[in-house]
Amino acid sequence: MTGKGTKQEKKRKRDKRECTRCGANDAVMSRYNLNLCRRCFKEVAPMLGFKKND
Ligand SMILES: [Zn+2]
Repeated sequence: MTGKGTKQEKKRKRDKRECTRCGANDAVMSRYNLNLCRRCFKEVAPMLGFKKND
């Protein structure tokens, strides 16, 4: 019989991406090695020189 004390530890790849600015781990993109979430990227991008051609 199995079941008691059987812990299934899923080995997840710790690919934790956190926004280096606000700590959000949602919609974080690692573009340009910045690891910023959408929001922060939008705010920081202009300061870094990234400009959208509008
Ligand atoms: Zn952020």
